[in-house]
Amino acid sequence: MKRLFGTSGIRGVFGQEVTPELATSVGLALGTQIKTGKVLIGRDPRTTSLALENAIVSGLESTGVHALRAGLIPTPVLAFSTRALGCDAGVMITASHNPPEYNGIKLWSKSSMAFPRRAEEKIESAIETKKFRRVDWRKVGHSLKINVINGYIHEVKKFVRINKKFNIVLDCGNGANSVVSPLILKEYSKKLKCLFCDPDGAFPNRKPEPVKENLKELIKEVKKQQADLGVAHDGDGDRIALIDEKGEFVDKDKLLALLAKNEIKKGSKVIVPVDTSKLVEDVVKENGGKVLMCRVGDVAVAEKLISQKGRFGGEPSGCFIFPEFSFCPDGILSSLKILELMSKTGKKLSELVEELPNYYTVRKVIKCKNSEKEKLVEKYSKKLKRIEGIRKIIQVDGTRVDFKDAWALVRASGTEPKIRITVEARNRTRANGILKELLEHS
Ligand code: MG
Repeated sequence: MKRLFGTSGIRGVFGQEVTPELATSVGLALGTQIKTGKVLIGRDPRTTSLALENAIVSGLESTGVHALRAGLIPTPVLAFSTRALGCDAGVMITASHNPPEYNGIKLWSKSSMAFPRRAEEKIESAIETKKFRRVDWRKVGHSLKINVINGYIHEVKKFVRINKKFNIVLDCGNGANSVVSPLILKEYSKKLKCLFCDPDGAFPNRKPEPVKENLKELIKEVKKQQADLGVAHDGDGDRIALIDEKGEFVDKDKLLALLAKNEIKKGSKVIVPVDTSKLVEDVVKENGGKVLMCRVGDVAVAEKLISQKGRFGGEPSGCFIFPEFSFCPDGILSSLKILELMSKTGKKLSELVEELPNYYTVRKVIKCKNSEKEKLVEKYSKKLKRIEGIRKIIQVDGTRVDFKDAWALVRASGTEPKIRITVEARNRTRANGILKELLEHS
């Protein structure tokens, strides 16, 4: 069976990997699975998103399923509203942080969680066999335009307690959050300066990925405005990045630790992938919680949050999930939660970051054929397990070993022909020492 879905839905260059024909098939397959009912559909501002939406809706309607068309919205708003409106599934047209020529399709369950792999396989199999439900002309589904933004804003505000107003600079990178974030942040601002908050699928001002090198304008503006913080999002708004009041980019592991600290109570479980810094575990432990590790990817985090009844989960990529609100990473709620933490503690963002422990990380990439990945991971896993002082071995995605003051991970890349080795320790000497021991005699 041809695999269509990658780690984050179907994604590729429009007109090549992602075509209207494929989108119609996805609509037909999804409608066939649901039989009768309604599907919420939303899209990011890419120039090709509406064409794909039309194609999916056409497929859905011809199976007898109704489509609620929410138009341009961020992914977390789509996922939240899918559950809130009692829809049978949600469809988001987006390529997240990829360049403008890309687009994609991501499917959501009625629980607000992204489709797990087994549900995607069912869609793939229906597309391959072309076994689609076709209904009589009298039973064809209808589509309806719907506004879900106001409902989302109303609900998300109930989920935070912020007793202060801030001076904020917001950079939506012309992505989907442009239609929601300014409306919400305005309510918690003394002053709100918006950069690139007009939706534009060409992403003319910066690349949609919210990494430090793409946020130079935001950093400049935070300093100029003497703002309390700068907030940036990716193209579809499930990710967040922050700049502190000094104009420093906040390390994503530290952001994860801060949000976890704000969320947990005694006994709470926090779910993070195996490549997460030990500082998150240190902070969670100190506050009476427990860290459980899962495979890399936000869907794996969401699945484990459900099975383990976790209180909070996230990925160092900037995806953070608050399960009581929704099982989709939510960049908007994440920004409000940081304001909540700043309001609660009365501290500046840089002060909150400085309280966290520091670790030093070294990384090594070993290129290899896809067919050799497994064997290489095995080889280095064996060597890893022979290093002295191991306290814990975790094997949910490659091999991670934890020492008292360090950890090391060997895992295959999910998308590229290489394996990755990561070592993190309290200082550079220790981290390099472990890596050296691992690479010796190989
Ligand atoms: Mg995204």
